Amino acid sequence: MGCCALCKSEADLIDSHLIPKSAYKHLRGLPENGGGSPIRIDGGQGNASQSDLQITQYLLCRVCEDLFSKHGEKVIGRLWGTHSGFPLVNQLLACEVRGSHEGYSLHDHSVLDRKDVDGLIYFALSIFWRAHVWNWTGKTDPYKKALGSKYEQEIREFLLGLQSLGDMLLMLNVNTNAELNSFARLPQAYRKNGVTHHVFSLLGIEFSLFLGGSISPEQRSLMGQDKVLFATSDIAKTNVFNGLSQFVQTKISVKGKLKDKMPIRARGSSS
Ligand SMILES: [Zn+2]
Repeated sequence: MGCCALCKSEADLIDSHLIPKSAYKHLRGLPENGGGSPIRIDGGQGNASQSDLQITQYLLCRVCEDLFSKHGEKVIGRLWGTHSGFPLVNQLLACEVRGSHEGYSLHDHSVLDRKDVDGLIYFALSIFWRAHVWNWTGKTDPYKKALGSKYEQEIREFLLGLQSLGDMLLMLNVNTNAELNSFARLPQAYRKNGVTHHVFSLLGIEFSLFLGGSISPEQRSLMGQDKVLFATSDIAKTNVFNGLSQFVQTKISVKGKLKDKMPIRARGSSS
């Protein structure tokens, strides 16, 4: 028995994954390339290994674990980039382009299935929230409780279905390069020029979260009433995982060690 981090009830807790278990098999190389683990995973403080990604913790009760599975993981599991295809990028490339800049295209996502859009939002927030409440004992906490108590509570209530999303923006940057989808990056937050960027990546999709005062006026005008924006880019050309934030927040430049990191490596590459 323990206290479920989401619903706060006393219950038998499930050994929950930080990143969905169903993602691991897609993060391995193809069998013809040895089927090993050619994928580099960025853990925030240097390079994490695949075993770092597979961290689990007794965090949630069965009811809440099922909530995450049904509303988030099942949805992204139909959309992410694997060796056999990438449904989300195909759908987005069929959507009208609202604007382009330095290799990024912003798409009108109004024709996407709203259930898919809602599922992606739910999934992303569940990952950021998990990283926040995670007990990182014995490991360096890559996220450092970055939501703060106010947004942790807001997002927790959203995940429980108790309230709609507050003042936040989720941006998805979806990779168009089919050779470079097998990557993952644990949630991180970093602050630059007064703006806090929250980011993680999984199987061809980079998720960036901006909260309250960190949403720029440009982003607000683009997002309208919605809480989400969708962009596509070829990450082999844009080359940085932090580039999306520069796309609509041009005052922000990513410098220093984050810029120097290359958190990805093509599957099948040997070095
Ligand atoms: Zn629970």
